[in-house]
Amino acid sequence: MFKKILIANRGEIAVRVMRACRELGVATVAVHSDVDRESLHVRWADESVCVGPGPSTESYLNIPAIISAAEITGADAIHPGYGFLSENTHFAEVCESCGITFIGPSKEAIRKMGDKAEARKIMGDYGVPIIPGSNGCISPADPKLAKIAKKIGFPIIVKAKAGGGGKGMRVVNDEVFLKDAIIAAEAEAKAAFGNGEVYLERYLTAPRHIEVQILADSKGNVVSFPERDCSIQRRHQKLIEESPSPSFNDNLRKKIGKAARLAARAVKYNTVGTVEFLFDEKSKEFYFIEMNTRIQVEHPVTEMVTGIDLIKEQIYTASGEKIAFGTDDIKIRGHAIECRINAEDPDNGFMPSPGKINGLILPGGPGLRMDTHIYPGYEIPTFYDSLLAKLIVMSSNGRESAIKRMRRALSEFSVDGIKTTAPFHQQVLTNDAFCRGDVRTDFIEKHLAVMNKK
Ligand code: ADP
Repeated sequence: MFKKILIANRGEIAVRVMRACRELGVATVAVHSDVDRESLHVRWADESVCVGPGPSTESYLNIPAIISAAEITGADAIHPGYGFLSENTHFAEVCESCGITFIGPSKEAIRKMGDKAEARKIMGDYGVPIIPGSNGCISPADPKLAKIAKKIGFPIIVKAKAGGGGKGMRVVNDEVFLKDAIIAAEAEAKAAFGNGEVYLERYLTAPRHIEVQILADSKGNVVSFPERDCSIQRRHQKLIEESPSPSFNDNLRKKIGKAARLAARAVKYNTVGTVEFLFDEKSKEFYFIEMNTRIQVEHPVTEMVTGIDLIKEQIYTASGEKIAFGTDDIKIRGHAIECRINAEDPDNGFMPSPGKINGLILPGGPGLRMDTHIYPGYEIPTFYDSLLAKLIVMSSNGRESAIKRMRRALSEFSVDGIKTTAPFHQQVLTNDAFCRGDVRTDFIEKHLAVMNKK
């Protein structure tokens, strides 16, 4: 086991990782930007090092500064959290060359899955179902473009090969708009990821987003967890996640779990990760869309429903330990739901709402977990993402009971000084279609206008 772990992240995930380290008896090092000096992850760490000014390119993405912080403090491992350097092959390489364990997959696995067009190809070759699409990346000037598009069939979605966070995507309903959509997606992808290459996929109308949490070790063992349903999205970004999916049964669960384990084996995976699929309810078919080679924001849903601490498992497997259980040992203990509470104003187009938290009441009671880094007096910096808190509930009495618990928890949550998306979540949680489990990726688009009128 490691002696000291540096957490190369901030916010709620840095706090979450720190909690696991503390329970494992591992010392922690926080890194922070100068605007995050008063952050909870800095207060709670055994040691902390300032790695640069506010902009993340100069602090949380500053590889030399982070590696120096690890060397100065004698950390033997780095946990990257999610975002920032978590899927950066160069960072994983630098850690390795400095003799520091990167708590994540091999650089080869990150590279292969980080290129979504290549990931599609690998998965297709391995027999994991993929959505019909282009064979690799495509240029707007390709003379075969029209032919390729026709073969895929409209509607088509143009997607960035380096994509993430729903950026660099365009849906095209007709061939006449295809070239322009590719050019626009390329420009957006270039600006967001420094790489403008794009590929095509058939656009599935209103599928469900179903993903499978994976845990693998360096001895070749791979286990899969019960699926998460992340269909409540805005602009292709998840807002609410739940497990199990109301649209799944044991049979489908076994099938998708097997496909996810196959996907992990295809890249000799050795840590936590998530294999994402789109699920068509009519045909009951699911298709691989991407694999995230890191811990995800929504991992607590799986932790709550199974009782397994994924961050500890991630640390154990990174330190060379073998997974102590198999897929069949994992039990679904009830139903779990997570709401991502962002510092955004839902009444004003979800505009960011930074500022100072003057007052704060956090919910409590049975079956509830709140992962957050905020506290009364905390000032939300403008430099980073707007995630303030994750509210997660679990009920052993099923989905309806979990929904009631979440409504109760949301009604207790109160923050003064900034706007949050908590009232928006309350609206979703009381929506009839949501309560019936009648939820697909177009849910917000379909229901938001009506919800706004209420
Ligand atoms: P990112 O890496 O940006 O998160 P993903 O490939 O994971 O992108 O897709 C994000 C979301 O975009 C999906 O959950 C889904 O809602 C939508 N999406 C992506 N590909 C398709 C597709 N082929 N058909 C329909 N929706 C899609």
